[in-house]
Amino acid sequence: MKLILFDIDGTLIDCGGQARVAFGQALERVFGESGPIDTYDFSGKTDTRIVIDLMTAAGRPRDEVLVTLPQLRDEYLATLQRNLDRERMKVLPGIEPLLEHLVARDDIVLALLTGNWERGARIKLSRHDLNRYFAFGSFGDDVFDRNDLPPIAIERALRATQRRFHPQETLIVGDSILDVGCARANGIPCLAVATGRTSRTVLEAEQPTWIVDDLSSAIDHPAFVPL
Ligand SMILES: [Mg+2]
Repeated sequence: MKLILFDIDGTLIDCGGQARVAFGQALERVFGESGPIDTYDFSGKTDTRIVIDLMTAAGRPRDEVLVTLPQLRDEYLATLQRNLDRERMKVLPGIEPLLEHLVARDDIVLALLTGNWERGARIKLSRHDLNRYFAFGSFGDDVFDRNDLPPIAIERALRATQRRFHPQETLIVGDSILDVGCARANGIPCLAVATGRTSRTVLEAEQPTWIVDDLSSAIDHPAFVPL
């Protein structure tokens, strides 16, 4: 058996910068400013961390940001739901056939491991009907630090399947150095995919277990083979 944990942005889909715009608009409405959003790297960050990083960089105390976080989240999610345009997004190469293949196997369990707040994750995936592959996952609502997401996903897999997955029976698929670091910190093998904002060279330097340019011919990749 294998538990496969997919990142979303840069791994399954590319929102074409629309989430960054929605964050910027929500921050402007709630805080009156959006901090260094144009240069900030969102890759691998939890949504909560994005808000705290941007607003503390703008000089606000962390505690003040935390108090306003629920309001900011509601504003961001409403903006995303209203504005996220399917036509300006894409599903990354090979994702649909890969997910179709994996979901049909009875020795593989699929789940999400993403820094997105769950509602935001579901909005993004809904635009190309990808929610049907993922009954559960761990999300940015649960933690500040991405490295804390895998134990939650493994607990939810236990609840969903009555099976406890050992880290070595788990796989993280992601596009950023924080995905690779998160896998390593949890003793989980990692398939890095260079379809996000991080180059293959930069990913390689983090020494993921495996690396591919994209997932277009990955159905037979050893990373997906159950133990
Ligand atoms: Mg990503």
